[in-house]
Amino acid sequence: MTYLMQFLLVAFVLLIPMSCQQSKSSIQSKENKESKVAATPASMASDTLKKVVKTAAQWKGELTDLEYNVLREKGTERPNTGDLLKEKSAGVFTCRGCQLPLFSSETKFESGTGWPSFYQPINDVHVTEETDNKYGWNRVEVLCARCDGHLGHVFNDGPKPTGLRYCINSVSLDFVKE
Ligand SMILES: [Zn+2]
Repeated sequence: MTYLMQFLLVAFVLLIPMSCQQSKSSIQSKENKESKVAATPASMASDTLKKVVKTAAQWKGELTDLEYNVLREKGTERPNTGDLLKEKSAGVFTCRGCQLPLFSSETKFESGTGWPSFYQPINDVHVTEETDNKYGWNRVEVLCARCDGHLGHVFNDGPKPTGLRYCINSVSLDFVKE
């Protein structure tokens, strides 16, 4: 065996693990970059949804008695009384408490219940859903994800495409016309 061949053999044996190491670390750094990029929209969403926390006195100063009762004390407006029940214009329904966009007019439908009804939220992370066993009913409460204001309930008897019916108090909403 010549020195040249020995040298090449040694170099070859040494280089294989090094090149493997390099390619592995470059994959890892690529993965890190990708996970950083993917994390950006989530952190932006959490900024948008930075909790709005106010005292009862502050809420009372900003809301009417009925709005306070529904949003902060989980009350329910009387059916067929809400200003936005028959609203048919194009636009966005926002939270009366904190103005977070909640429902699009495109998903509003006539449910015949006497409350504004939607088949899906404008963004899944803008509403939170909690089990509500009050009065012995097994219902799912819908709340604003930013200020925890009570909006209404969601049921499984809605129209296509979701089959859901978000039954929302008109006083929990504001309307921003397009
Ligand atoms: Zn809100």
